[in-house]
Amino acid sequence: MTELLGTRAELAAWLASTAGTRAVVLTMGALHAGHEALMRAARAEVGESGTVLTTIFVNPAQFGPHEDFAEYPRTLEADLARCVANGIDAVFAPDVLEVYPPDEEITEYEPGPLANELEGAARPGHFAGVLKVVSRLLQLTEADVTFFGEKDYQQLTLVRRLMRMEPRLADCRVVAVPIMRAPDGLALSSRNRYLSEEQRTQALAIPETIALVRQLCADGLTAEQAAHVGRGFLRTSPGVTLDYVVVRSVGLGTAPAVGEARVLVAARVGHTRLLDNGPVIIKGHEA
Ligand code: AMP
Repeated sequence: MTELLGTRAELAAWLASTAGTRAVVLTMGALHAGHEALMRAARAEVGESGTVLTTIFVNPAQFGPHEDFAEYPRTLEADLARCVANGIDAVFAPDVLEVYPPDEEITEYEPGPLANELEGAARPGHFAGVLKVVSRLLQLTEADVTFFGEKDYQQLTLVRRLMRMEPRLADCRVVAVPIMRAPDGLALSSRNRYLSEEQRTQALAIPETIALVRQLCADGLTAEQAAHVGRGFLRTSPGVTLDYVVVRSVGLGTAPAVGEARVLVAARVGHTRLLDNGPVIIKGHEA
C-alpha cells in the first residue's frame, strides 16, 4: 500500500511506524520513466524489508523570478499512480508552508564556485535553493540512502558536496542513477512535454552532440577541441539555441588530458531549456 502524506505530522507518524533502511527519492513530480528508474534502484537497494519514500515538491527556492515555477507541470494523480505501480511505500507531497514554515529558520548553504558555473551561471541562486530543499527533505524524511539522476549531473555533484558539508546528513548515502532516454536518444525530462512535435525532433541534436563529442575525445582530440566542434554542431542545428557544451573532469573541474571525463550540454528549444550529459574517455594525442 502506498501512503499519501501531506504534512510533517503525517510524515513523522509514518516514519515512527516503519522500520528498516529508508530510501528516499526526491522529485518535483510530473513523473516519468526517469524517476521510475530512481524508484527501482531505491527498492533494489533496500529490498522488501526496507522502505522507499518518494517526495513530490516543486521547490520555489530553486526557481528564479522569471523562471517557470508557476507553470511547472503538476500532475499529482498521475504521479501517485506511478508511485503505486512502483511499489513505493509512501509519498510525501507537502505544500510550501510545510517545508518552509515562516517561524522556522531553515539552513542555507554556500555551495561554492561550481554553483555559479554552467547551470548556476544561467540560473543564479538555483543551486543554493536546491541544496536548501535537499537538506531539508532528507532530514525530514530521515533518509538512510537517497537516489539522484545523472541527468542533472551538476546537481548530483553539488549534492555529494552537501553531504560532506552538513553533519546532520553524515549517515545518508547518495546513489547515482544513469540517465533514462527515450528510444530516439532524448533524455527524459518533465520539461519535454512543453516541446511541439517539430521541437521534439530538433531537440535530438542535443544527444547527437554528446555522441559527437564522445567520438572526438575517443579519436584523440583534446577536451576543448572536442567541445569546440560540439558547440559548432549545436549552434548550426535548426531550432536549437546553444547555451553551453563543455568537457569537464568527472568532478566538474578542468578536464584531464587523458582519461575519464564528462561532456555537458545545455540548449534551448523554443522556450524550453534542456540538459544532457554523458561520460567520455579522452584518449589524448599519440606519443
Ligand atoms: P526532478 O523531478 O526533475 O527534480 O528530478 C528528480 C530526480 O530525477 C533527479 O535526481 C533527477 O536527476 C532525476 N531524473 C530526472 N530525469 C531523469 C532521467 N531522464 N534519467 C535519470 N534520472 C532522472
